[in-house]
Amino acid sequence: MPWSERQRAMLREMGIPLWLPEPAAVPAAPLPERAPVGSPRVAEPDPPPFGPALSEPAAAGPPSLLDWPALRGAVAACRACGLCQTRKQTVFGVGSQRARWMVVGEAPGEQEDAQGEPFVGASGQLLDQMLAALGLTRAAEGAPPERQVYIANTLKCRPPRNRNPEPAELAQCEPFLVRQIELLQPRIILAMGRFAVQTLLRSSEPIGKLRGRVHRYHGVPLVVTYHPAYLLRSLGEKARAWDDLCLAAETAEAVTASSA
Ligand code: URA
Repeated sequence: MPWSERQRAMLREMGIPLWLPEPAAVPAAPLPERAPVGSPRVAEPDPPPFGPALSEPAAAGPPSLLDWPALRGAVAACRACGLCQTRKQTVFGVGSQRARWMVVGEAPGEQEDAQGEPFVGASGQLLDQMLAALGLTRAAEGAPPERQVYIANTLKCRPPRNRNPEPAELAQCEPFLVRQIELLQPRIILAMGRFAVQTLLRSSEPIGKLRGRVHRYHGVPLVVTYHPAYLLRSLGEKARAWDDLCLAAETAEAVTASSA
């Protein structure tokens, strides 16, 4: 894909050289962003209980039947796992419901938990720069649907101290992500990092083995790439992530052309 001057400037800004360097060895699996372990917390009052009975308000029904507002409400009310006891708020997703692109990340971090929006911290800034280099935006207005990206996480609640999501938490939260994908009907899904990939592709292969080709999620083309938090620590992998984004862009264009 030829790069415009604007894209070249953005790539320079992201620290991606316009020639591709010899790639560093691919690690078995990228490590998600981790905060240092803090000092013990001061004792707090008992948190409210959690359990399946409270996970779906009776009036709303299962996620698979909900429209966007009801789904957002069900996520906000969810108490299906222990993360509801430590979250400040749920983080549903951001972007236009007409977006043709969908980015799926891992879980909210501290800033996302505070602001209620995915990818607003350092890795979010890198993600936005990478998307902008392709002319894409999470802004819900001002761009045509082909340029709009909807961003959601695999988990809607922050794991304490940004620890890895647990299998039971991923399983409880998955129906919300599945419904977001069903409602959005994106032309392309970009799965970022191990937990998004494992959830959507049901694969335990490392990212390095899954990237570089187009997968399918219920018929929707899906491209695998590294998590932005990993890219912030492994600068040598940015060029590969850029390749992944270009593959996703080419795939999205092909899908659009074939459905025109
Ligand atoms: N990492 C993620 O995977 N998602 C966020 O929203 C923030 C950081």
